[in-house]
Amino acid sequence: MLDKTLLKFEEQITKLKREGIYRTFVPLNRQTGNFPSAVLQDQNTPGRVVDIWCTNDYLGMGQNQLAIGAMNKATKEHGIGSGGSRNISGTTRFHEELEHELASLHRKEAALIFSSGYASNEASITAIAQILPDCVFLSDELNHASLIQGIRNSRVEKVVFRHNDVSHLEDLLRNIDQKRPKIIVLESIYSMEGDIGPLMAVADLAEKYGAMTFLDEVHAVGIYGPEGAGIAAELGIADRFDIIQGTLGKSFGSVGGYITGRACVVDAIRSLGNSFIFTTSLPPGNVAAALTTVRWLRNSNTERDTLKQKTKLLHALLQENGIPVTSQDTHIAPVLIGDGARCASMAKQLMSEFGIYVQPVNFPSVPKGTERLRVTPTPLHSDEDIRQFVHALSQVFGNEKRRSAA
Ligand code: PLP
Repeated sequence: MLDKTLLKFEEQITKLKREGIYRTFVPLNRQTGNFPSAVLQDQNTPGRVVDIWCTNDYLGMGQNQLAIGAMNKATKEHGIGSGGSRNISGTTRFHEELEHELASLHRKEAALIFSSGYASNEASITAIAQILPDCVFLSDELNHASLIQGIRNSRVEKVVFRHNDVSHLEDLLRNIDQKRPKIIVLESIYSMEGDIGPLMAVADLAEKYGAMTFLDEVHAVGIYGPEGAGIAAELGIADRFDIIQGTLGKSFGSVGGYITGRACVVDAIRSLGNSFIFTTSLPPGNVAAALTTVRWLRNSNTERDTLKQKTKLLHALLQENGIPVTSQDTHIAPVLIGDGARCASMAKQLMSEFGIYVQPVNFPSVPKGTERLRVTPTPLHSDEDIRQFVHALSQVFGNEKRRSAA
């Protein structure tokens, strides 16, 4: 590489640092049996025990003993990796069983698993556009990067509707040639807002304008709806969404993503999705673990009921203490700070003074001026943990107020 080429990379890093958006890792080891506690592995305070308040392992299923047993057994019996892509020697009985289980969970004809939720969105959207080259995507403005990237890669027309604004969506639908295939792409729970999409109204519009619907339920599966089938299922309208997409990496505690839908739709995506075809399939151990946690959460309400109780307490205490959140709809409680440097400083204080780990969410994950601490309780946070957390947050808010007044 030429020196001047290398310089470009260095300049990029300098630029990110100057803009205050350079990302650093917080290395920590979760301890099975002690989650949400974890042990810091950083250079300054290695060995320090902290409480995680920003996990996506929303139900603590990552430490489910049955799933750990299934993972160990599958790994021992079949090895650490799948050894190939799904089409070339990388399909095990676990992959197929999990696909049956997910189709059954969402009451759909078929399911397909991918190496991540990101890949499942990106690959499926791109494949849909290949199948319907004249289509138009209608995409919520706050859709996840994986959905946006899928639409970008597809190079077909897209129109963006204002977040959760169904009248804007209808205006756009009305203006698209009736004959063109239309695909409405949205999420049931928006990760950075913690709010819920207007699923009923979107399903009505899709029916009225003959549009296909692609629903990302990544932050809802496992927690909401009967057996953890998601928000659409909770509303009794899962059958009105053509594709329901989810992840195995959040409430199901493992890794991977999936889509569910009509058999021919899933089969066509299976046959065209590059990020599905040209990659090593998930290891049998991870799939066996996910199969166990999906089944567990279909049969047990304890984890989601407890999370709902913890969420209610958290929101009540945040409100009581005047701490602003973007939404009280779900278990995701994004505490609005509105300034990148202040957000980072508050997260730092929470960690150093109270042993609380919340990752600050800054630009480009959220727009400038809306920086936040994205707080997620779990069923394993005790009521006392929640009280202490809100107390700590209030103290840190107070410190920041005094600092900016000085
Ligand atoms: N969809 C949404 C809405 C997400 O927030 C995320 C990740 O956070 C994904 C998809 C990607 O899922 P995964 O982490 O399994 O790749």
